[in-house]
Amino acid sequence: MKQLYSIALALAALTALANPAAALGLKPESLELLQYFQSKGGEVYVDSLLCDEYAPAMGLAHGNEIHICSAPHHGDFHEMEDTIRHELWHVIQFCNGSPITTDPINAITTAAAKGWTGQGYNDPNVWHSEAEAYYVAKAKNETFIRQNLNHYCFQ
Ligand SMILES: [Zn+2]
Repeated sequence: MKQLYSIALALAALTALANPAAALGLKPESLELLQYFQSKGGEVYVDSLLCDEYAPAMGLAHGNEIHICSAPHHGDFHEMEDTIRHELWHVIQFCNGSPITTDPINAITTAAAKGWTGQGYNDPNVWHSEAEAYYVAKAKNETFIRQNLNHYCFQ
């Protein structure tokens, strides 16, 4: 992972971003959540090589790293904020060692009610975690993500 070029998405360093437009349109709550994650040791990458490898992924989570891929969002910052909540929820799942909810069928049906189709996820083993992350990103806000980061990762 060291060969990935890393770009800190800190408010104070926005001009240092390779792609500052990818961050400038995010709402303050979203940037503050990313900053908080970084302040606790999390790593945030924008348009890293993983984005190329897994194109057209909107984002990826890998241990304590999240990768936000700007191109597939086509300038839709609301969607990018959703992706940030989604990927940070995967970090929370990683800290927990599993999805937070215990019933995969309920997680999938709840997410489906919010529009989740499972499209792009061929492996049924990921449906629980993906459906849960989809639902949380759609239904919950940055405060909720931060509270759960604290509970599952940073206590
Ligand atoms: Zn996901």
